[in-house]
Amino acid sequence: MPSTETDPNRIHFVPGTRGPNIVGGDGCWLRTDDGRRILDAAGGAIVANIGHGRTVVADAVRDALAGGAYVVPIWPTPHRARLHDQLVERWLPDGMGHVFFTSGGSESADSAVRLARAFHVANGRPERWKVIGRHPSYHGITLGALAAGSHSRRRDGYEPLLLDFPKVPWDDASALREVIEREGAATIAGFLFEPITGAAGACLAPSDDYWQAVEDVCRRHGILLIADEVMTGFGRTGLRWGHQHFPITPDIIFGGKGLGGGYVPIGMVAATDEIVADLHGSGFMFFTFTGSDAMCAGAGAVLDVLESEHLVERSAAMGDLLADRLRDALDGQEVVVEIRGRGLFLGVELTPSDGRFAAAVVGECLARDVWIYPAGSAPVPDAVMIGCPFTISEAEIELLVETLAAAIDAAAAAR
Ligand code: PLP
Repeated sequence: MPSTETDPNRIHFVPGTRGPNIVGGDGCWLRTDDGRRILDAAGGAIVANIGHGRTVVADAVRDALAGGAYVVPIWPTPHRARLHDQLVERWLPDGMGHVFFTSGGSESADSAVRLARAFHVANGRPERWKVIGRHPSYHGITLGALAAGSHSRRRDGYEPLLLDFPKVPWDDASALREVIEREGAATIAGFLFEPITGAAGACLAPSDDYWQAVEDVCRRHGILLIADEVMTGFGRTGLRWGHQHFPITPDIIFGGKGLGGGYVPIGMVAATDEIVADLHGSGFMFFTFTGSDAMCAGAGAVLDVLESEHLVERSAAMGDLLADRLRDALDGQEVVVEIRGRGLFLGVELTPSDGRFAAAVVGECLARDVWIYPAGSAPVPDAVMIGCPFTISEAEIELLVETLAAAIDAAAAAR
């Protein structure tokens, strides 16, 4: 019988991609089985917002499991109800009074698309089914999420399985107007966007004018605005939600990653009262693990930490510091195209854009015990992202910046 020792393929389908064997973590650091300490400057996959090793979250999950039972998602349970209310009362924008739980980002993206469709069907508009996506973008790997997204490397080969949803360039409101006209507004259910593009584009953010134009055209044509806040939500960009940096008001918001902080697999879809008012119960099926009480207990504890330690504000302040330090160290380097982002959600676009340079930089960083996130897809094939825990210290920021600069030099010299 193959083990993970002899066959890394046992935990990842791609042979030869074995990473360090992580046995634990603490704050911004990961510990390996052979005693290395790795600075987790990407919070894993931009997930570990409150840092590693928080026993308060483990305690919350354990207590819920010890006292609980599996309960069908349509009945309230203590932590399910508490998390719902905590989100509605303290986290979501005004008017978003409804939350549907999932197990992560992709399930949330699919559910948001399904919700937009269900809303139009319930309101007598069954011809509205298309969801316009942006290029580049990433919303997950379920078939609906892949269809709505446009991350070329992650879609490659799966196209025959995917609905052919229209796509528009990430920063072009005229293209959006043209697509709506060409497809027919009466066929379109929603417009799906990352407020700041994540791994597909390494923190691309269009102007306020763009968002204003998007809001205007979608409102005029009854097209729902659906914000993917899986990476940008829960304080990552220095505000609670990434869309709050811009003049845009979504009808549906979905999230994942930072809600569970890497401790529990959980995602959510939130919607305004208007969206859910006419839904019929059986028309919007749950997942078996929708709102698992123990997962909700864990997520509630994560939000409590964010609130009590004022970590959203800290993400803004430390993000400004990190962006300044990155610019001091990297601006003007021949291989650095742009440093961009908000809060602790930062991207560094690199050149040559041959689809390999970013991986080399990530490898050089890891060899120096710092983990950053590989990002990019056409038209931004080579970029890296930084998404450290909000608790990162100034000393850790210095170490991160020094290491990234050295890693970029080493990768450039090796070309
Ligand atoms: N949406 C965005 C913006 C993401 O970055 C991701 C994952 O990276 C997803 C959706 C999918 O989330 P998950 O991997 O939890 O399914």
